[in-house]
Amino acid sequence: MTAIAAIVAGDIIETGDAPISIINPANEELIVELPEADADTVDRAVAAARRSFDEGVWRTMPVEKRQAILRKCGDVIDAAVDRLADIECSNTGIPLSQIGTRQVSRAAENFRFFADYIGQNVGELYEQNPDYLTMVRREPVGVAALISPWNSPIALGSMKIASSIAFGNSCVLKPSEQAPLGISLLVSLLGDAGIPEGVVNLVNGRGMTTGDRLIRNPDVNVVTFTGGTETGRIIMRTAGEHLKPATVELGGKSANIIFDDADFEQALDGALLGIFSNNGQQCLAGSRILVQRGIAKRFVEAFIARAEAIRIGDPRDPATELGPLVSQRHMQHVMSFVPDAGSADRVLTGGRRMPGFDKGYYFEPTLVETTNDSRIAQEEIFGPFAAFIVFDTDEEAYHIANQSRFGLVSYVWSQSIARIMEAQERIEASIVWCNTPMMRELRAPFGGYKDSGVGADGGKACEAFYTRQKTVSIPR
Ligand code: NAD
Repeated sequence: MTAIAAIVAGDIIETGDAPISIINPANEELIVELPEADADTVDRAVAAARRSFDEGVWRTMPVEKRQAILRKCGDVIDAAVDRLADIECSNTGIPLSQIGTRQVSRAAENFRFFADYIGQNVGELYEQNPDYLTMVRREPVGVAALISPWNSPIALGSMKIASSIAFGNSCVLKPSEQAPLGISLLVSLLGDAGIPEGVVNLVNGRGMTTGDRLIRNPDVNVVTFTGGTETGRIIMRTAGEHLKPATVELGGKSANIIFDDADFEQALDGALLGIFSNNGQQCLAGSRILVQRGIAKRFVEAFIARAEAIRIGDPRDPATELGPLVSQRHMQHVMSFVPDAGSADRVLTGGRRMPGFDKGYYFEPTLVETTNDSRIAQEEIFGPFAAFIVFDTDEEAYHIANQSRFGLVSYVWSQSIARIMEAQERIEASIVWCNTPMMRELRAPFGGYKDSGVGADGGKACEAFYTRQKTVSIPR
């Protein structure tokens, strides 16, 4: 396997600093020792991006041509779906069946979406003044530093690349050092679609070294980050120090509210998908399951039966629904939330490293009955591990949902339109999914309230972030 330390203006660089051991979480075998892009390589990647932006081939290209290349990126990704899914599966342990159909297809869709979006861009024209015409134009911002996490590397990394370059920018992506393989392969393929040299660059390495060097580089104009809340604070501070606009998309602890008039089976399916897909490692996981007392007993019994029937195992097996956690360190983090014998919290199912596996970081699907003030309900566990909380009144449900430092997503299940409308107003989260799990509309913003982020992805949100406005006045 090629150990990609960086991709600079289309050149693959295989040498660098302190290597990072990339381990397959399903069998604990070493996949590759990945050299870290050193300071010089990071600077070269930014210089390549800056040069491509200044030369202007991409940003001044007729929009139809830029659209065609972005669409071709989608085709190139689709054509490589098996290779991309294979490498992503080895690196992350996410079931192959979930990567190909959801994440690689999403990556292709990200490019096609922004290709369509830029075809509809309009400026503003003010003609009220008899002596002047004033127009407001949007121009690309320049070089974007993109920093992405390990939990859906191809889907999230491609979103950042597609949304930044669609508006004419150049970029340098630094993927997570834990899961860089799939997205590095994807970047290496983009030249085949006709993206001009230097528009998309990549540096691999750790956050505090490669990532920090990247965002501090004076030739970087904007920073976008997806990852943990505490890292997000550091990124905001660094970007602020250098007066660079930054968006940070951060953690979540989303409430999944199931009212007693919900379509029971639909809500049950949604709750299971909300916490167990992507091996439970999702920012948008419905990790606090709030169920109204009248249906709580029936719900919990059905949930446990379904959770215990989940097929856990080799992520390459098409039948597998839940694979291993991404790393041993992360498994230890998840296990640190399992209540001990004397605790008031009650393990309803799971709570152990998966028995029967000699190798791999497998953890049982877990549900723990708790109160909202517990650590289990307040901290992001980021695994197949949900807090279960019973509530009596709607008021109580909103109170519990909002008693969280996070405000990313919320799920609401009820067959009453009035209840749904009330709930979506009362819940402090930037996305409320009503009787549906994980509906992603790329035109709409995907950001976070409170400690879940500042700024957002999505059509208009990306346009606002990746362009700057210029006001031009001309005498009539
Ligand atoms: P993380 O914060 O540890 O790392 C994210 C990225 O930041 C990595 O590439 C890392 O190398 C880099 N980084 C770390 N320190 C840095 C620094 N000082 N300067 C520059 N870069 C630095 O997050 P993670 O563990 O990779 O990802 C999991 C987190 O991401 C969870 O909290 C999850 O909720 C969040 N997430 C949020 C969204 C969203 O859309 N809101 C989506 C996916 C994941």
